[in-house]
Amino acid sequence: MASPGPLGLHRNSIGMSVGPLGAGRRGWVPRRWGSPGPRRAPTPCRMDPFEDTLRRLREAFSSGLTRPAEFRAAQLKALGCFLRDNRQLLQQALEQDLRKSAAESEISEIVIIQGEIDLALRNLRAWMKDEKASTNLVTQLDSAFIHKEPFGLVLIIAPWNYPLNLTLVPLVGALAAGNCVVLKPSELSQSTERVLAEVLPRYLDQGRSCFAVALGGPEETGRLLEHKFDYIFFTGSPRVGKIVMAAASKHLTPVTLELGGKNPCYVDDDCDPQTVANRVAFFRYFNTGQTCVVPDYVLCSPETQERLLPALQNAITRFYGEDPKSSPNLGRIINEKHFQRLRGLLDCGRVAIGGQSDESERYIAPTVLVDVQDTEPVMQEEIFGPILPIMNVRGLDEAIDFINRREKPLALYAFSNSSQVVKQVLDRTNSGIFGGNKGFMHLTLPTLPLGGVGNSGMGRYHGKFSFDTFSHHRACLLCSAGLEKLNQIIYPPYPDWKKKLINWMLSTQTCTIL
Ligand code: NAD
Repeated sequence: MASPGPLGLHRNSIGMSVGPLGAGRRGWVPRRWGSPGPRRAPTPCRMDPFEDTLRRLREAFSSGLTRPAEFRAAQLKALGCFLRDNRQLLQQALEQDLRKSAAESEISEIVIIQGEIDLALRNLRAWMKDEKASTNLVTQLDSAFIHKEPFGLVLIIAPWNYPLNLTLVPLVGALAAGNCVVLKPSELSQSTERVLAEVLPRYLDQGRSCFAVALGGPEETGRLLEHKFDYIFFTGSPRVGKIVMAAASKHLTPVTLELGGKNPCYVDDDCDPQTVANRVAFFRYFNTGQTCVVPDYVLCSPETQERLLPALQNAITRFYGEDPKSSPNLGRIINEKHFQRLRGLLDCGRVAIGGQSDESERYIAPTVLVDVQDTEPVMQEEIFGPILPIMNVRGLDEAIDFINRREKPLALYAFSNSSQVVKQVLDRTNSGIFGGNKGFMHLTLPTLPLGGVGNSGMGRYHGKFSFDTFSHHRACLLCSAGLEKLNQIIYPPYPDWKKKLINWMLSTQTCTIL
């Protein structure tokens, strides 16, 4: 029988802390390490397994514990220690979930999280500092500033495709901003979820109930969302994003929605096909195509397609060898459901490169499809796998029209030797992020925000953008308790001379003059 630990965490048989929110539903938590088998049905035991933990987190926040810079910095350092101490364990978990190579795990998960932690630690006090605001004549003697304060209790819901990065990078922002946090990793990346639930709570918060890991899938997350949070940060599909936003609206909780969709990639006739193929293949097949910002499809002329196909084949062979299935650098599809979905997409258009699959390993070869129709499923849904359809267009205008007739994408790419062409695509379209002759390397820059627009999401994060996302920007005006005589000017009645004077004093021109 598990016994409650100091955080309300429960100890399992190997002495590790497990997520407190799973504690009332022990059926979900101690799943077998790496077992991709079905989750055991939750044992009905209490009406609301979340209530106690959430109350404790709220009490901790109300006590003011998380507000001081020292506490925030200690949390960030503890998160860094978690990464360093458990590097091998985390790599193993990622390998079990996605057959991710150690190199990919480093590049796209661990190093990025560590970079975010280091940046937050270096800048924490500067970010927390009140920002002075200018005043007008009426408030000339007052002090106007923006005070960054934590929202309170924050819920972070993450997907499975970068199960560490997309869980812990938002966590860095939430901790830096001084919030209490409930982390809800994806139930589909089971091994990573388990490390986060069992090991991370031993590092964070050291027994003072500011942090918890909630486990479960749609049903459990739905129940969690019935509770009031002060901020919800969701990364996942637009379909679930709508569910999260609807639940948040019941409590008027602000949200960040980091969603997905179909990312177009325009390839101009004026390009070096091998350079384009290298860059497109690298990021299309990275993480086995299970990346939200990669090009979902290519738009180019039939002539450019003919030059691009051998170049893409060349790039794929160089990256993954003659037999990509045996490459240590190519992962696997997350689960059977997604494998079957992707295998169905291979029937669209005509396979020009790849097309092989092996159900026993959930393997799908790096694939390029041509002769694809706009109405086929591969052009109707987000692919999220190692399949790249090429759609033919007659030039830039048709490509831009094609892009603009669809939902605003998370990412959009343009490849051309002409900077004018790249600029035109940038100027005449919308997307969350934009890459000109470049892949998703901008995700390594915390100086650039990540966030969608329209159907691909709302809000942004990374670096200081994360801190700002998880902080309420409180507008403050502090005025002397005395000097009441000066205020007489704004009190009624308002004869003409007074109206003119007030208008002048309130006008922005006066504050710039002064
Ligand atoms: P998903 O929307 O199915 O699940 C995301 C999270 O929501 C998971 O934790 C899951 O448990 C939970 N969830 C699922 N169904 C739910 C429901 N009905 N009610 C409440 N919660 C529910 O997404 P996914 O399959 O994990 O990830 C793939 C999607 O995420 C793709 O669309 C991809 O583009 C997107 N994505 C976006 C970004 C980004 O930064 N914008 C990053 C990675 C992935």
